[in-house]
Amino acid sequence: MKTDTQPSTPHLVTDADELRERIAAARAAGKTIGLVPTMGALHAGHTSLADAARRDCEFVVVTIFVNPTQFGPNEDFSRYPRTLDADSRLLAEHGVDLIYAPPTEAMYRPEHATYVVMEGPALLLEGEFRPGHFRGVATIVLKLFNLAQPDRAYFGRKDYQQALLIRQMAADLNLPIQIEVCPIVREADGLALSSRNVYLSPDERRRALSISQSLRLAKKLVSEGTTDAATVIARVRSLLEAADLNIDYVALADPHTLESVTTVNRPTVAAIAARVGATRLIDNEILGEAD
Ligand code: AMP
Repeated sequence: MKTDTQPSTPHLVTDADELRERIAAARAAGKTIGLVPTMGALHAGHTSLADAARRDCEFVVVTIFVNPTQFGPNEDFSRYPRTLDADSRLLAEHGVDLIYAPPTEAMYRPEHATYVVMEGPALLLEGEFRPGHFRGVATIVLKLFNLAQPDRAYFGRKDYQQALLIRQMAADLNLPIQIEVCPIVREADGLALSSRNVYLSPDERRRALSISQSLRLAKKLVSEGTTDAATVIARVRSLLEAADLNIDYVALADPHTLESVTTVNRPTVAAIAARVGATRLIDNEILGEAD
């Protein structure tokens, strides 16, 4: 029997056939399927997606897979945190029904040769600084969609461009899946939760705060009437530089096309990617729109 103090443990599945069988059984029982793709090292940002899925759907699947194809050759694939036991316990507390955590070789057979390549907004921002990243993301997400065939799939606005591209892929490829994008979960001081925050030393953690602070400044400037994008970007950059961050980009962009804007006279996404020491962090905020 389920009680509040003894959450039932989600089924941990590593085999694709078992995943399909369990989902087929849930669907045969008339349940709607919600999917939350993650790379594990779970935190409250991830569980907010699981909670949203739990509210909307009768069978909630969280996938945990550190996807090698979305990492560049000099990125942190091998040291990315892997904490499956703690992740399973956390997901049990959030009423998740099934965790799918396949081994790498099951998702990418040696002869794997098919990838999803996106253009348009995929070529900007992260696409510029992490070539091949979205090819890896779109490929793994489409594979997970095909395996789980969910009614709804949940993504965080923390990865603004990723969520936009998944919506675009679903529309472009006629996927019968509702894409839900959930708000950014932050620490009390404003830092966006990220699995990569564990890399930060105490000093880097303090300096990383300049990212969310500068986004708040941008939002304030725009709400007080600044419309010149270059002015906003300069103020953001100087805050990040004062904290000794290495900036990949500070962009004010159209929320749909991700093309740069020069005048902020309608809702605009402010997106930052910056490195604090060896750790690359991203964050964003929508300007010109109430919270
Ligand atoms: P990841 O494990 O980093 O691939 O993230 C899995 C999902 O969790 C993605 O849809 C992310 O956008 C989302 N996510 C990560 N961090 C946060 C956060 N702080 N708030 C909301 N969603 C998040």
